[in-house]
Formats: sequence, structure tokens, C-alpha cells
Amino acid sequence: MNIVLMGLPGAGKGTQADKIVEKYAIPHISTGDMFRAAIKDGTELGLQAKSFMDQGALVPDEVTIGIVRERLAKPDCNTGFLLDGFPRTVPQAEALDSILTDLGKAIEHTLNIQVEKEELIARLSGRRICKTCGTSYHLIFNPPTEEGKCDKDGGELYTRADDNPETVANRLEVNMNQAQPLLDFYEAKGVLTNIDGQQDIDKVFADLDALLQGSRS
Ligand code: ADP
Ligand code: ADP
Repeated sequence: MNIVLMGLPGAGKGTQADKIVEKYAIPHISTGDMFRAAIKDGTELGLQAKSFMDQGALVPDEVTIGIVRERLAKPDCNTGFLLDGFPRTVPQAEALDSILTDLGKAIEHTLNIQVEKEELIARLSGRRICKTCGTSYHLIFNPPTEEGKCDKDGGELYTRADDNPETVANRLEVNMNQAQPLLDFYEAKGVLTNIDGQQDIDKVFADLDALLQGSRS
């Protein structure tokens, strides 16, 4: 199953992606996670991405497209994949089409999680992430059982550097400017499915899963 999961920062992409990849046993390809891992490892890619991420800006298309092209060519994507947070611009969406054509693959589900701006700000300001596995929590909406610790592996929870109020404001603006043309691109192809992301986490997953089940033979 080949899935693209879109939504503004804080919409719940990572949270839902974790549940989908667990159920459908496909790789979770998050460009944000890949950039954060590269920064942590001090690689050239990390150096290229860091200054953009710190400002809440988008990493340039050619860099982002390059890492997705490499990742999708790996053998574990042969049985499916979930792209989380890519594409975010029309050039990225066009590049994805051509990458997939080259690989003889196609997207089966283009899903967009919709959440209002005020709610996004509330979610991002209370988000905490596990240092070891990257699972997202929220201080109020989705707290861990034990404060400051991941339920899955006991890892320490931290606040992402770009979840501070100034960077969040810029990220939302940048992403909102890019989102409409991107959604129009998929709408024009007749493949876009919008999901109400302003329901509780399990209900959003139930809606997503019903769509994915519908395509299973
Ligand atoms: P994204 O990957 O789209 O930026 P996350 O999955 O990290 O978003 O979720 C952003 C924040 O909102 C996290 O703190 C997460 O726990 C919380 N969250 C996710 N889905 C919901 C939901 N349906 N209702 C309330 N809070 C949510
Ligand atoms: P969120 O959805 O909460 O913004 P991500 O982890 O997906 O979080 O992205 C974090 C940052 O990584 C973005 O603000 C941006 O700088 C960079 N990034 C992630 N995906 C892309 C992309 N497809 N194109 C450009 N930059 C990206």
C-alpha cells in the first residue's frame, strides 16, 4: 500500500503514521525525521537542513527530493510505504510523480489531515517527543503514563527546537502558503481525500483505517 499523508505542522501526521505503519507493516518515511537524524549524526545533509529548520523554513526542494528519491528506491518500499510530510510543495509533488514512474510505482492514497490553525498552535506548543523512538506526546491531549518518559521504550521526552512560539508562527505561515497549491494539485487529479483531524486520535485513525481497508482486496 503506497500512501501519502499530508497536513499542516501539528495536524497529527506522525501520530497517525505510527499507527498506520504498525498495522500495515510498511516503512514510515518522514522527511522531518530524516533531517533530525542527519542533524544528530552531524552529516552533510544535517548541516544543509539545520539552518532552514531552525527558522521554521522549508528545506530546499532539491535537497528534500534527493533524499526521498534515494529512500523510495530501497527494497523495503517494494511492498508499500507511507510518506509523512512529503510532498509539501508543488515541485515536490511533481518530482514524486516522476520518481514513482521511474520506479514503476504509484500512489494509492493521498490523504490530508485537516485541523484549524488555533488547534495546531495548541498542539505544537504542548508537543513532547521521545529522544529514542520519536513518538509524539502532548502534555494535555496525549500525555505519557509516566511524566517525561516514553510509554514504548522509557526514552526521555523533549521539546523539539522548532516548537517554540516564534518558529511555530513562521512554520505555520510558510506551510499554509505552500499547502493550498499542493492540495489544488492533487484535487485537480481527483485523488485527494480530506480527513477531519479535529477528532480524538483514535477516531482519526478509525477514519483513516476505514479508507485504507476500503482499498484492500
Ligand atoms: P505532525 O506530525 O503533523 O506535526 P504530531 O503527530 O506530532 O503532528 O502531533 C502534534 C501534537 O498534537 C502532538 O503533541 C500530538 O500528541 C498531538 N495530537 C496528535 N493528534 C491529536 C489529536 N487528534 N487530538 C489532540 N492532539 C493530537
Ligand atoms: P511538522 O510537520 O511538525 O512541521 P516535520 O518533522 O515534518 O514537522 O518537519 C520539520 C521541519 O523539517 C520542517 O519545518 C522543514 O524545515 C523540514 N521539512 C520536513 N519535511 C519537509 C519537506 N517535505 N520539504 C521541505 N522541508 C521539510
